[in-house]
Amino acid sequence: MKNECDIVQDLLFSYKDGCLKQGSKEFVEKHLTKCEECAKIYKEMNNEEDSGNTEKTEIDYLKKIKKKMKRKTKIIIFVLILLIFLIIFNITVFISYNDYAGRVEIFLEDNISEEDVKNIENIIKEVDQNAEIEYKSKEKALNDLKERFKENENLLAGYGASNNIMPASYIVKTDKKYVTEIESRFINNNCVKKITVNTETNPYVYFFWYKIYLPITGK
Ligand SMILES: [Zn+2]
Repeated sequence: MKNECDIVQDLLFSYKDGCLKQGSKEFVEKHLTKCEECAKIYKEMNNEEDSGNTEKTEIDYLKKIKKKMKRKTKIIIFVLILLIFLIIFNITVFISYNDYAGRVEIFLEDNISEEDVKNIENIIKEVDQNAEIEYKSKEKALNDLKERFKENENLLAGYGASNNIMPASYIVKTDKKYVTEIESRFINNNCVKKITVNTETNPYVYFFWYKIYLPITGK
């Protein structure tokens, strides 16, 4: 019997796969009906395959979940990138708007004393001691204008130091919350010719107009 068991067990795989010849097949079948041990081994072989199938289904299921997760992850990453972009965009818009809206230019009358000029600077500092204040002389103003109208040089050719039409000015960079107050301090000041402040009040309009549209169209 032991010897027969060895032969049968060697043949079991082929038997299970159905590739035994009729004679061998009948031999195995007959043996299995009378030998408990081999029958048990055969049964276990089949069980293993079943559990193998279950494993395969589980793997397929996991793969599906993984696929779904991958899609979800992609969506989450996309939304995150969008959010980060929006945050950076808004920060950029508001920083550049604050810069723009906090700019004041104070044009000075001609022939005022150095003391008057200094005094104007002091008034600005009284409102905002951290303001960046740049003095632009008449000469610099004329040169800047000539630079801007380079293509029509003749237009400004006759103007020089002796007949400079441009006023000196202070260019002030402050926080936009101080602008109105700075403006109001100079309304009745005899040394000041005029004050210009930036008037666009919508940061997005400002950004699209001055930072995107104009640079692109080259105006
Ligand atoms: Zn046996």
